[in-house]
Amino acid sequence: MPSEFDLIARYFSPRTTHTVLAGGDDAALIAPGAGMELAVSTDMLVGGRHFLEGADARGIGHKSLAVNLSDMAAMGAVPRWVTLSLALPAADEAWIAAFAEGFLDLAAEHRVDLVGGDTTRGPLNICVQIMGEVRAGSALRRSGARVGHQVWVSGTVGDAALGLAHLRGELALDPLEAEYLLARLERPAPRVALGQALLGVASSAIDISDGLVADLGHIAERSEVRARVEWEAIPLSGTAQARRAEPRVLRCALAGGDDYELCFTAPADRHDEVRAIAARLGLPLTRIGAIEAGAGVDVLDAHGKPMPLAQRGFDHFG
Ligand SMILES: [Mg+2]
Repeated sequence: MPSEFDLIARYFSPRTTHTVLAGGDDAALIAPGAGMELAVSTDMLVGGRHFLEGADARGIGHKSLAVNLSDMAAMGAVPRWVTLSLALPAADEAWIAAFAEGFLDLAAEHRVDLVGGDTTRGPLNICVQIMGEVRAGSALRRSGARVGHQVWVSGTVGDAALGLAHLRGELALDPLEAEYLLARLERPAPRVALGQALLGVASSAIDISDGLVADLGHIAERSEVRARVEWEAIPLSGTAQARRAEPRVLRCALAGGDDYELCFTAPADRHDEVRAIAARLGLPLTRIGAIEAGAGVDVLDAHGKPMPLAQRGFDHFG
């Protein structure tokens, strides 16, 4: 029986294409390009809290990197290097192999070098640190939204939360619907290309990890403005669109996290450029509201009345 250290070395040996030194020394060496800033972010995933116990290991590997790539997307950064630290309850080779496949396939897709990490025995805990590059002074921030700017969101929102409700047995779906929503929950596609395309176009951006209202609220807070959103404009996938009037759909769309879409603002005169980016990337971008003077986020119904759900402070879904 190989030790967990042998297993980690076998499955996670550094594989690099643009790193000075990874492995075989006390630290990795990386060299950002001239005139570039490093964007650095860390996310920790804990078994039983961020994914269900017994969830597919390949999906956990994918998602633990995807959520970090999503933070690079929200900054407009090119993801370049990543470290992976794992606490594992046991040296379960099949689990580690599947986890590694999910993680490394996504890393290869985005040309991210795995440059180091650590491993220990303990309750399942996955800590990923990602580093990306962005031209100095150009990163997308949460603080740039101004009165009159438009509010946009990529893709559709609420899918992951609806998938989770289905997994918990709270929502009956036909098999095709369930497959789509579970894929959105377990294998999110971080909007890395979109983030980079929005450099110089968007005035602020955030990735939707905690829910549309909560995350747009961070933009409003950092920018010291109010965001007004129209419920009818919020893009939902087919399943949710057909059930738009249901309270659960409303809750999942506004407060369900884990979609990893981007929410961003842009000046009204950049509208056509945003449309062109959507066409070029083949990714729907929907204008859902506008920035006004004030504070917080208001979601208005079809009659222009604030929806009470949107007034509540949202925390993690569930
Ligand atoms: Mg984020």
